[in-house]
Amino acid sequence: MKNILLEPFDLAPFRSVKNEHFKPAFEKALKTARLEIDEITGSEAPPTFENTVEALEFAGAHLDRLSSLFFNLNSAETSEEIQALAQEISPLLTEFSNDIALNEALFKRVEQVYEGRGQLDLNTEQQMLLEKKYKYFSRNGAHLPRDKKVRLREIDKELAKLKLTFGEHVLAETNRYEMHLTKEEQVAGLPEDALETASQLAASKGKEGWVITLDYPSYIPFMTYANDRDLRKRLSIAFGSKGFHRDDLDNQELVLRIAALRHERAVLLGYESHAHFVLEERMAETPARVMEFLEELKEKAKPAALREFGMLQSFAREEDGIDQLQKWDGSYYTEKLKQKLFDLDDEKLKPYFKLENVIAGVFKIAGELYGLRFEEVKDIDTYHEDVKTYQVKGEKGELIAIFYADFHPRPGKRGGAWMTSYKPQYKRKGRNERPHISIVCNFTKPTKSKPSLLTFNEVTTLFHEFGHALHGMLADTTYPSLSGTSVYWDFVELPSQIMENWCFEKEALEYFAHHYETGELLPMEMIKRIKESSNFMEGMATLRQLSFGFLDMAWHAQDPSGIEEVKAFEVEAFADTQLYGDTPDTCMSTAFSHIFQGGYSAGYYSYKWAEVLDADAFAYFKEKGIFNREIAKKFKDCILSQGGTTKPMDLYKAFRGSEPSLDPLLERAGLLKKTA
Ligand SMILES: [Zn+2]
Repeated sequence: MKNILLEPFDLAPFRSVKNEHFKPAFEKALKTARLEIDEITGSEAPPTFENTVEALEFAGAHLDRLSSLFFNLNSAETSEEIQALAQEISPLLTEFSNDIALNEALFKRVEQVYEGRGQLDLNTEQQMLLEKKYKYFSRNGAHLPRDKKVRLREIDKELAKLKLTFGEHVLAETNRYEMHLTKEEQVAGLPEDALETASQLAASKGKEGWVITLDYPSYIPFMTYANDRDLRKRLSIAFGSKGFHRDDLDNQELVLRIAALRHERAVLLGYESHAHFVLEERMAETPARVMEFLEELKEKAKPAALREFGMLQSFAREEDGIDQLQKWDGSYYTEKLKQKLFDLDDEKLKPYFKLENVIAGVFKIAGELYGLRFEEVKDIDTYHEDVKTYQVKGEKGELIAIFYADFHPRPGKRGGAWMTSYKPQYKRKGRNERPHISIVCNFTKPTKSKPSLLTFNEVTTLFHEFGHALHGMLADTTYPSLSGTSVYWDFVELPSQIMENWCFEKEALEYFAHHYETGELLPMEMIKRIKESSNFMEGMATLRQLSFGFLDMAWHAQDPSGIEEVKAFEVEAFADTQLYGDTPDTCMSTAFSHIFQGGYSAGYYSYKWAEVLDADAFAYFKEKGIFNREIAKKFKDCILSQGGTTKPMDLYKAFRGSEPSLDPLLERAGLLKKTA
């Protein structure tokens, strides 16, 4: 069979692809990409924006398409064979991108264009592209003298290793712990499915009874529902002391070393701290702005958090005579109180959220807001028969995008939900190439007797991913690397999170929240309770998120060389945000994988930042009408279509007329009004 991946393609040709096609296709595409780079560096002509920056942007286009195809498959429909291929292909791609980052001739040309930028007549998008390409090199040390470059490579190598080891320790700590329970009363309070999981786990280990572990699906239900307070305490301390046992899996030294190396790297590159380095490419821009943001939110959230804590404390006293609420009581009594006050049960809501109805609803909302029409088509290749495909049309019938939707779990699909693309949007040679966007979820499958019925949480997840998809589909930029969701990290969740707001609005729910058997609309009273319960204990939850943000900034926004003791440092960083007493045996930093293993260093604040943005933006819709075409057009023109072509704060101000205000979030979260 002919290897279709060797040549450029438009729609991903899933049906004609065999696994053995990937490797040769990648090899050929890499060769082509290298030739395209050589052509730039080998040019006799003086460097210009077109022959260098733009040429670099479009170099390796086929390689990018292949990578999307392959790695999307590896997430949504993988196999041992594909995983083995990924092990072979990933290093080739890493090598290629390292070669570009270290290509001195290429950097020299980009640098020349960058230095002469004052004389060039570039539009905003071109300026952003130039800046992005130049920063790609300079943030990797391309402008440094040789000895500093060598040191930078050493740091990067050591950091990569340390982060890996940090993660391995956390994983090993998680895996080596288990709480084996054999008496019924020890698991009292756990819901049916949690019990079943725990007993299956025990059985798989050849044990009687139930096994509880530190994995979230096991840990969270136990902390939320288990009646036995001592066992909750035991599990909570085990969870909180990962990497903090002063043994071979201890992470304290690693944390100190990672912080020190990150600081050294930032200083080497000319930044004041690691946070300064990271935030240069974020909407928040500076550590001072992030700190101001966290402080301001803390001022507002703390009084509410203290009130809620008092309320929870009295509830726990009334229920069980608890004198002093501890960390291991929080989730448990919050859930109990929530049940008492709202009596909301997933099973009661699910019949109103049949998947097909919710999809039709979200399409209808996109139609009302942006004039989009989704036409299901059957002749587009997919990687699995469950995947649905749509042509997305605009008001004049023009093609806006191809949309893939893959809703149900399968072996071979990773957990969670995400949006991705098979082809980016861009403009070239007078053509506006339209994007191919996909969302992948893991919603309950239909059975013989019942259609797929979503929990409310799944409904908001679908809206969330669909919001990312709109960002991709409505993109209208020239350069693919600035298109759609290619925006600063603390801005990318605005289009997705704002969509979730429609799930709480009666006018929107009327489009889709009908009982799958009776057709009856979800009762208003239930909508009200969903809304209220979604803000329940929001002050405490906010303060908790803020405490993580403060800890993250404490580690990364200043010179860490004076820090001697991880735990003591952490207690100080937490001081102003803690409601519960400290547990000396536990430490957050030694298992804070988000910032010490993953990519969230100096970025944890983004969770709250994005909420502020989406609440403030949605307040504008609320004010003018949630289906107001004019506001929707503004949102599309200023934000959704613009990708990363302009600094996000400028895009936001163009939409809203001002910088985002905290008030709509505080109001939505119920933090402005006094609660009894
Ligand atoms: Zn998201």
